[in-house]
Amino acid sequence: MSKLKIAIQKSGRLSEKSIALLEECGLKFPNGGGKLITESSNFPVEILFLRDDDIPQYVEQNVAHIGIIGENVFLESEKKITIVEKLNFSACRLSLAVPKETDYEGLTFFNNKKVATSYPNILGNYFRENGINATVEVISGSVEIAPGIGLADGICDIVSSGSTLLSNGLKEVETVLKSQAVLVSNQNLDEEIQSVLNKLLFRIRSVQKARENKYILLNTPNNQLEKIIGILPGMNSPTILPLAKEGWSSLHSVISEEKFWDIIDELKEAGAEGILVVPIEKMIL
Ligand code: ATP
Ligand code: ZN
Repeated sequence: MSKLKIAIQKSGRLSEKSIALLEECGLKFPNGGGKLITESSNFPVEILFLRDDDIPQYVEQNVAHIGIIGENVFLESEKKITIVEKLNFSACRLSLAVPKETDYEGLTFFNNKKVATSYPNILGNYFRENGINATVEVISGSVEIAPGIGLADGICDIVSSGSTLLSNGLKEVETVLKSQAVLVSNQNLDEEIQSVLNKLLFRIRSVQKARENKYILLNTPNNQLEKIIGILPGMNSPTILPLAKEGWSSLHSVISEEKFWDIIDELKEAGAEGILVVPIEKMIL
């Protein structure tokens, strides 16, 4: 059987979570030892460990069939590859920042200014779309020191908490792009490879679905059962089991993690007791 080649970041902010995702999908593979390529012992895949910036090119050329990268790298690369799944990790944003003492009153500030970035394509498009005429200065790293050394009036870089900006005397003024990790694919996979990818995608979606949901168990007096069922956002009809205690039942259901905090008070007010919320490992839909 042909093997699906997956490119992931060798070492960096995406590495650990990319590996964890593949492992949660049940793939067993040796990891570590500085190997650049490894294969799974229980699923027809090979894993290539690469610099994230090289992954779009490898995937476009079918050297790797699929890859895990940030959306920022996907867009910057402008390669002919396709996002097949958003992965909900490594959320960050690409932002414009200026020295913190700058009087910033809007995007027109950047007219006739110099902006340092490692994302010239994304930033160039952004300025064009917004009618700003700025010079984009491409540098490959340590972008945040550019204003301090007189190389640029501002920067455009990846931000998550903003603490790096602050410690370099900068303030964030515009969000250019919101990013997260994505699974990208070559656009012309042969049938056999595509069918392995479909199997993997099915697993990835089950893992993601499970992460978004929780299994909830609670005890309720029977006379409150209907009310409590009404509060639980129904995906399936809940399971109801009688308790040994007369007039009480145990109720089991699956709820989305997001909704959970909103309804927990309502459940308690309605008389629910012994509420347990437990993680789900896989969710097959
Ligand atoms: P490489 O050596 O592979 O080229 P790199 O230095 O370019 O690595 P990292 O800093 O490891 O890249 O970031 C990889 C990706 O992780 C980024 O492209 C971005 O999508 C995401 N990322 C970057 N910074 C953060 C952050 N602070 N929080 C969350 N995700 C981030
Ligand atoms: Zn990189």
